[in-house]
Amino acid sequence: MTESHSRVAIVTGAGRGIGATVAKRLAADGFAVALLDLNEDGVRQGAEAIVAGGGKAIGVGLDVSDAEQVDTAVTRVADELGPPTVLINNAGITRDNLLFKMTEQDWDSVLGVHLKGSFLMTRAAQKYMTEQGWGRIVNLSSVSALGNRGQVNYSAAKAGMQGFTKTLAIELGKFGVTANAIAPGFIATDMTAATAERVGMDFETFKKAAAEQIPVRRVGEPEDIAHLASFLVSEGAGFISGQVIYAAGGPRD
Ligand code: NAP
Repeated sequence: MTESHSRVAIVTGAGRGIGATVAKRLAADGFAVALLDLNEDGVRQGAEAIVAGGGKAIGVGLDVSDAEQVDTAVTRVADELGPPTVLINNAGITRDNLLFKMTEQDWDSVLGVHLKGSFLMTRAAQKYMTEQGWGRIVNLSSVSALGNRGQVNYSAAKAGMQGFTKTLAIELGKFGVTANAIAPGFIATDMTAATAERVGMDFETFKKAAAEQIPVRRVGEPEDIAHLASFLVSEGAGFISGQVIYAAGGPRD
């Protein structure tokens, strides 16, 4: 067991993709992990796999944009695993379209999951962190925060995550709580597979084309993000707060 064996981490959107891999990594680091997702079966199975491997985990179904479901889920995590002092706000969706074709529903859904969801989750979890005098919040932003055609809703949400993160760092620092954002570039998950489908390319060709534009000449994998999340929630990362770290295989402005 590592230094973090007594700490409890919540990962949202842990049913698949980056969230599932981050949850697995934090469990391997010694955290008790609550996997939260819309897809309750998915997170139950993920939690069972962690438990079968000797870790401690539960899977909880919820919609992060629903305040009541969030409060119920976070209370359940505290009751079953102990006070959650690590929160990874990872749940996300895309509803891409050019501005002139984008519906109000596309806008509200994306802002609702990323921004409102992160706000609700963080508001519910901060109470445990401030009581414990220790906490780590990691928010998933994106290179799309810098602007991306067809993603006016998602870009706005991911830029919003950066301001949200910096303000959390300012407000919660005196309680021993850090907040940082990870801004991934292209990571191979169902989300990017769906983008490939939308533009009519097979995923392998899409990844190959993306890799050619990336300085390290490969696309990212969920493990790349899990590695950074693992560092940011570690004991030793307590003097790093309010930062946006681009994990994109190259520099970003
Ligand atoms: P993904 O494979 O699509 O997984 C997203 C997860 O979030 C799914 O398990 C989904 O549940 C869950 N989710 C969606 N809405 C939810 C809600 N309202 N409440 C609870 N859970 C919800 O996406 P990913 O690629 O792993 O992305 C994870 C995060 O990284 C997102 O915030 C994304 O914006 C960000 N990111 C990804 C990339 C990339 O290239 N992949 C790049 C930059 C940033 P269901 O399975 O039930 O739909």
